[in-house]
Amino acid sequence: MPPLHPGEAVLETRELAPGVYALVSNKPPIDNSGFVVGEKGVLVIDAHIDGAMARQIQARVREVTDKPILYLVNTNFHGDHTFGNYAFPEETQIVAHRLTADRMKDFEHEKILMLAAVDNDATILRDTRLRLPDITFNETMRIDLGGLVVELYHFGAGNTPGDTVVYVPEARTAWTGNLVLGEAIIPFLIEGGAADYHATLARFARSVDARTIIPGHGLPTTGAALGRNLAYLNDLVQMARSARLQGHTLEQTLHGNAAPRRLCHTIGLAFGAVRRV
Ligand SMILES: [Zn+2]
Repeated sequence: MPPLHPGEAVLETRELAPGVYALVSNKPPIDNSGFVVGEKGVLVIDAHIDGAMARQIQARVREVTDKPILYLVNTNFHGDHTFGNYAFPEETQIVAHRLTADRMKDFEHEKILMLAAVDNDATILRDTRLRLPDITFNETMRIDLGGLVVELYHFGAGNTPGDTVVYVPEARTAWTGNLVLGEAIIPFLIEGGAADYHATLARFARSVDARTIIPGHGLPTTGAALGRNLAYLNDLVQMARSARLQGHTLEQTLHGNAAPRRLCHTIGLAFGAVRRV
């Protein structure tokens, strides 16, 4: 499991455009977050792993505005993005993709997985309670905060079935959850195949012009990361196809020549840093 123990993690506020803020973890791969402030109120992206981190997000918001937190978007169902939901005000409407909301119901199972990510420190997960989304969407959703619009997109399955991209056109900024990770971290194919992931990212690249990407984990990056991820997934699919055409087994493919060895090394490095993000 990746090291996601929030221990001394601090979320640093970065203003990307008027009213648009990234909250960047000082200890990657611990989760990043963010918020958008409109005339009517605030939208927060991802709730983090526990009540303490969720309260830290709200404290960062309060350093900037006293407007109500109207919406909280969960970019995927994993506990490090959703376990802080319960610590947001009752009035805050939680928004997620339908498939994310479905998977969140398997709360006890997710707690077991998350325990390993926090060094088996049960105190981190002690207070969390399941708080499901109030609003779900299927393909896209548009939220007008007054003066600033936030768009939610489901481009298809990637790291999880309901991966959601939160896009602010005014700032050309996308929060990508686990779909696009930080600089130099490859896509994590833990649910589903490389070809589907590639199709999802291709739809993403065609649909919005993201210049800045705030990933769920890792260092913020630019829209160019999307192209690099697409190239990587394309190479991976082509390599697997050509190996199968030549009748090679998986073992032979992984260890048989220089290119796959290089990929193994990259995958190994990435897994060492963030095994399940
Ligand atoms: Zn994550």
